[in-house]
Amino acid sequence: MQAFYESADLNPSFSEQPPEVVEGFCYVCQQEVGFIINTEMIRCDNNWRETMNCPKCGLINRWRSSVHVFEALVQPTAQDRIYLTEAITPLYKEIASRLPGCTGSEYVEGKPLGAKIRLPSGLTRNEDVTRLTFPDGSFEAVLSFDVLEHVPDFKQALREFYRVLAPGGQALISVPFTFQDQTVTRAEMDSEGKVQHLMEPVYHGDPLSDDGVLCYHEFGLDFLKDLRDAGFQDAFLLCFASRRWGYYDANMMFVGRKHF
Ligand SMILES: [Zn+2]
Repeated sequence: MQAFYESADLNPSFSEQPPEVVEGFCYVCQQEVGFIINTEMIRCDNNWRETMNCPKCGLINRWRSSVHVFEALVQPTAQDRIYLTEAITPLYKEIASRLPGCTGSEYVEGKPLGAKIRLPSGLTRNEDVTRLTFPDGSFEAVLSFDVLEHVPDFKQALREFYRVLAPGGQALISVPFTFQDQTVTRAEMDSEGKVQHLMEPVYHGDPLSDDGVLCYHEFGLDFLKDLRDAGFQDAFLLCFASRRWGYYDANMMFVGRKHF
């Protein structure tokens, strides 16, 4: 893990033509590879988190580094119960292939919660992160990667993550992060369940819809206070970058720990 903290350009910018391949070492595959760059994505918004696919496992920067941070921080065993707030992504499939005690879910509004629903990719558990159907203390780790920005009442989701964690459990949460003190609310849900836009709507890629999914929040450092308010006794933000591992750009992971 020491290479995790090596100095690296956090946000390399290539003024002319970005490279199509950069050499590095894939944590998931445990081998030297040439990460494949989506040069169009780099030219459009210089976003390195959603590209840099490993040619072997196919995983992008954000997914590879999420597996790495999860295994380094949690050191999960085959007995551990792990919950991911996604179930049809390559990231879920990778973690589930490593750990038998892995549960994933997607959310389709209006379908029964806690039940299996049929998606084009097959049967998947349906869960609303603000109303999880799991009993208290069900998991050693809760993993939520770039989901909470799409949840209007994300603070209720944090309380639910805390509730379903067993004592000593950890929540690892990545979200779009702005390096500002305050979370910016771009949209909110009114009492009648209608979306009220406070800023120009921004939509992110969604594995369940070609239309994308609305971004409600751009999180700031006060997310650490939100974690503590939800019950987490320890809360910290891990920032990392590494040329060696192919983690370009500013990568973040919020961590909340539930004490014994
Ligand atoms: Zn790989």
